Amino acid sequence: MSTAYLTPEQHQRLRHWEKWNQRYFVFAFVALLLLLVFSSQLGLSSGDSWGPLGILLALLVAPIIVLQLKLKCPACGARIGWQAKLMAPDQCKACGTFLRAKGAVKHE
Ligand SMILES: [Zn+2]
Repeated sequence: MSTAYLTPEQHQRLRHWEKWNQRYFVFAFVALLLLLVFSSQLGLSSGDSWGPLGILLALLVAPIIVLQLKLKCPACGARIGWQAKLMAPDQCKACGTFLRAKGAVKHE
């Protein structure tokens, strides 16, 4: 395992992904709460019909999965999205590359 780092450009791209991933997660969470709270008023879950609500929930969750799948290690191309959750991991588990530029401080 080498201790390689990302180029500043790759570093930027990864931070960009983190920013959008977090933004969307917050948006989806709020939207999900609103949906669940107001679903009866909106007539989305009237009686035992969960159809429209279920579709909306799926539409909210799908981009999260897409975002996770889109994140790949810039060095080896391994999918690191599922290790990432909200933030990219510090190091790629597949090739050991540090997922930041050398000397760059990771902002929490
Ligand atoms: Zn890698």
